[in-house]
Amino acid sequence: MRIVKQLQELNDALAFESKRSIGFVPTMGFLHDGHRSLINASKKRADFTVVSIFINPTQFNNPSDLKNYPVSLKQDLIILEKEDVDLVFCPDFDNLYKNEKLVEIPLGTLDSVLEAKKRKGHFHGVIRVVNLFFKLINPNYAFFGEKDYQQYLIINQLTKIVFPQIEIIMCPTHREQSGLAMSSRNSRLSSEDFDRSIEIYKVLIFCKKNFDFSNRVELEKICLKKLSKFSKPEYFEIRHSDDLLNNGGKLKIWRAFAATNLGDIRLIDNIALN
Ligand code: AMP
Repeated sequence: MRIVKQLQELNDALAFESKRSIGFVPTMGFLHDGHRSLINASKKRADFTVVSIFINPTQFNNPSDLKNYPVSLKQDLIILEKEDVDLVFCPDFDNLYKNEKLVEIPLGTLDSVLEAKKRKGHFHGVIRVVNLFFKLINPNYAFFGEKDYQQYLIINQLTKIVFPQIEIIMCPTHREQSGLAMSSRNSRLSSEDFDRSIEIYKVLIFCKKNFDFSNRVELEKICLKKLSKFSKPEYFEIRHSDDLLNNGGKLKIWRAFAATNLGDIRLIDNIALN
């Protein structure tokens, strides 16, 4: 496994792979089985798998969230070696951003609801870094988790407009046995909050079981109340899976989205409803 920090080094390494298909898995490190499922998907699909580890400051709207984001590069590299990843890219900020050319893409509702509404500027930071990575790596496939479903939709939009040659593959949310969606942030939960956080998935399952197009507004309220019994919710919303609007008819595909806080840890999750 090759570990690369410099852009030129990355360029040289990838030039050797020009005849093989490249799969790319961007991460912010502190790897868990959710990340590993993306890596496995890439290894199945592509000849050469690149994983990036980069905590991207431009996507953090809250400085203390950035400061407290868990780091474990040494352990991450052991995991990636075991997974037989071909190349790990861990650039530093100045190097990665030094020749940045900003892209502007229309995002419509995607950039005004749910995470975009609560974390101002977050997705602009995500677009900036993924745009840089895609330009540098130009993968055939890039893998993103369903757990960050809104991010997946936004990356799809970026790709459609700027990188139509790249195929975006969404991988299912990997969960603890309890149902809690795996996340690097879970490591910062107290053991009591870790136990409580299991309830988030239970609320999503409750929503799925009781979902009917006609009762969705009432159901949102009930689920928000359920979340508030053990945490401090920011939203529980039922929206279309394709454009995140919430005014469509029966024929639409719907999804429920939750964001809630346990202590000072903010967790998000979502589930397909129909
Ligand atoms: P992160 O390191 O949290 O930025 O995540 C890197 C990638 O892993 C993103 O595409 C996430 O959506 C994905 N991911 C994070 N957690 C999970 C999970 N529990 N299951 C599947 N994918 C995940």
